[in-house]
Formats: sequence, structure tokens, C-alpha cells
Amino acid sequence: MADLIIPRQILDDIIAHAKELTPYECCGLLAGTNGVVSRLYRIKNIVAMEGAQSLSSFDSAKAAHLERLSPDERAEIAFVMDMQDFSSAKKDMRNNGLDLQVVYHSHPHDPARPSITDIKIATDYEEIWPKINLPLPAYLLVSLMNSEPDVKTYWIKSGCVTPADVLIR
Ligand SMILES: [Zn+2]
Repeated sequence: MADLIIPRQILDDIIAHAKELTPYECCGLLAGTNGVVSRLYRIKNIVAMEGAQSLSSFDSAKAAHLERLSPDERAEIAFVMDMQDFSSAKKDMRNNGLDLQVVYHSHPHDPARPSITDIKIATDYEEIWPKINLPLPAYLLVSLMNSEPDVKTYWIKSGCVTPADVLIR
């Protein structure tokens, strides 16, 4: 039994989303039940939409988090989810009896593996998911660095990255 089952159509949607936003990163959520993904939510990347300089005016908790990072680390944060989009996705999941399964984002110029910053954020978020009543998601990365998009999915737990077993069908 695979950890996750992702419909081909949803995978194609993720790749299309990544291509639309390149050179910026795209981000979004996949929801479903018991590892079977049935729904994709595109989440606005506010870095792509407004430019990083406007971040501090947006979400104070997020901005506070950014300030704690070194400039190098901050520069590496290429996506910050729009909290309004995130909240409406969360509400829609609840209304449809779906659970969060996957957080996805794209790497326009880098391989499909979590950056140091991605791992750090995922590790910070391990404590946040239960507080907002969401299960620990898997992390899907789509890389556009080669002509053929590369998609890989991982679990990130306590700073450890392990490949997730994903069936595409
Ligand atoms: Zn990344």
C-alpha cells in the first residue's frame, strides 16, 4: 500500500501551475482521505504576487518568522502562502470531509528535493499542524530545471527527509 495515491490529472495540474508561475515558485495543497488525493487547492504565493518587500505588511506572525532568519535564508524563501487562500482551502476541506495530505511547491531552477530552508520550515510547522487541526502533510516538489518536469514527494519529520511512496494513477 502506497503512502499516497495521486490522480494523474492532479499531478498534471501541479505541473501546469508550476509552469504558469515560473520563474516564481508555485504552492498549493492536496487534500483527500486516507492518503488518496482527490482535490487540489492552488494557494497564492505572495512572494510571486507582491514581491518580497511587501511581506512585512502582510502577516505579522509570518513576518516575525522571516525576521528571525538570516538574509541568506530569507532570500531562499521563495514562497509564502497567502493565509486567506490557505484558510478558505482549509474550510473547504472540512466542509467536504477531506484531510490535508500534501503541501506542494515548485523549484523552477533547482532539483525536486527540499532546500535547507524547506526542511527548516517543515520542521517548524510540525508543531503548528496539530494546533490548527491538520494532519502532518507530505511535501511534494516539482522541479522545472530540466525540460522534463521532475516530481518527488517526501516526509519531513524532526528534520529528517525520507521519500514518500506515491502511486500515480
Ligand atoms: Zn523549496
